[in-house]
Amino acid sequence: MLRDIDVAIIGAGPAGIAAGVGARRAGAENVVVFERDWDLGGILQQCIHPGFGLHTFKEELTGPEYVHRYLERAHEAGVTFVTNTMVFHMEEDGSFWTMNPERGIEHVRPKATVLAMGCRERPLGALGVPGSRPAGIYTAGTAQRFVNMEGYMPGKRVVVLGSGDIGLIMVRRMLLEGAKVEAVFELMSWPGGLRRNIAQCLDDYGVPLYLDHTVTKVHGKDRLEAVTVAQVDQYKSPIPGTERTIECDTLLLAVGLIPENELSRMAGVEIHPLTGGPKVNQFLQTSKPNVFAAGNVVVVYDLVDWVSAEGLRAGENAARYALGTLRSPGRTFQVEPGRGVRLLSPQVVGDQEDSMVFLRVSEPVERRCRIVTMPDVGSANLRYARPGEMNELKIKAEALRSLGDDVKAIQVHVEEVR
Ligand SMILES: Cc1cc2nc3c(=O)[nH]c(=O)nc-3n(C[C@H](O)[C@H](O)[C@H](O)COP(=O)(O)OP(=O)(O)OC[C@H]3O[C@@H](n4cnc5c(N)ncnc54)[C@H](O)[C@@H]3O)c2cc1C
Repeated sequence: MLRDIDVAIIGAGPAGIAAGVGARRAGAENVVVFERDWDLGGILQQCIHPGFGLHTFKEELTGPEYVHRYLERAHEAGVTFVTNTMVFHMEEDGSFWTMNPERGIEHVRPKATVLAMGCRERPLGALGVPGSRPAGIYTAGTAQRFVNMEGYMPGKRVVVLGSGDIGLIMVRRMLLEGAKVEAVFELMSWPGGLRRNIAQCLDDYGVPLYLDHTVTKVHGKDRLEAVTVAQVDQYKSPIPGTERTIECDTLLLAVGLIPENELSRMAGVEIHPLTGGPKVNQFLQTSKPNVFAAGNVVVVYDLVDWVSAEGLRAGENAARYALGTLRSPGRTFQVEPGRGVRLLSPQVVGDQEDSMVFLRVSEPVERRCRIVTMPDVGSANLRYARPGEMNELKIKAEALRSLGDDVKAIQVHVEEVR
């Protein structure tokens, strides 16, 4: 089974499952997905709240329901899944090493590989908050796994730092399980998560959100006893005199997600400094031609539907590469973030077919605005633009083909419509 693999996929979250389907549908014979967990589905296994699949299945599903539906497609397509198998090393040629309790260590040499390892949460250590490290401080995703999958309650009196979606979802979850949630504190001047999650998880339960605030100290030796919070100035430094101490036994952190790219780096794949994921072209092909990437390992997405769509395309293109039928991208252009754009992906597009670029804005624009390109190769109208939500832009191949030879890069800007 592990010999003569056409397309190998690392990670069986939504991106990896979809990549398997795409690779099989595009004609690859032997498509194998390697997953370190004992079950399939990635982070969606613990997301028992609804809100998944509105685009893909035209229904509002929970995370496990979404995975179940997609796995049906994968099994129909003939994708092979290998669980309990950690990919622990990648070689520069795209081959990799796996470890499995029964089969031991194996060297896998596929014709093409899709990276789909997802992302991980930023821990407290990365924030440098003073104080000891008592029990009771968790990333929101860890607490979510405890409550939804392991059947443990992390605590009874909770403060949340960061207003990313996982933190917002966990506010509601902890409340429904009987905990008291004191408040959510956010360093930025705007919320990090989706508006619908602010409304459904905070406003509906009367939990306050304090923008421009952070935790400046944790108290307690063995168990967390309290946190000190303070307002911050425009440089994000705590303002003296605004500190207050809140008693709590649990601090949940929703302070950002980091694409999981240790393997990508081992393989020598170029990592983009803004996304923290592999630099990819419109085929989701990395700087190593036989290595493709999809989902949160490339850039942190807000909706699983985009992740699955990207996984499908990465799998299809990896299959074409393995079969020797991947078309040339033609003349290629760098796509660069300009005014109002924090990050975007893919960062390279070709002039042979239209490309979809996903982007996040750097600041909220709460009025009609427009994504524009310089030179003009595509644009999109938006009712608003918020950092917590991904936006899409179609870059037209025909417009790229009309550009002079001196043009090497396309800049993407967001501007208000007056
Ligand atoms: C708490 C939370 C709430 C969310 N809510 C919503 C929502 O309401 N609606 C919505 O549409 N989206 C939501 N999302 C977003 C969506 O779930 C993610 O975008 C999506 O799961 C990302 O899929 P992925 O396959 O890229 O990564 P993941 O789901 O993280 O999967 C990565 C997989 O790779 C495996 N892996 C990693 N490294 C290795 C290795 N070395 N060897 C083998 N396997 C490996 C992991 O075990 C994991 O199974 C939410 C996300 C979170 C975290």
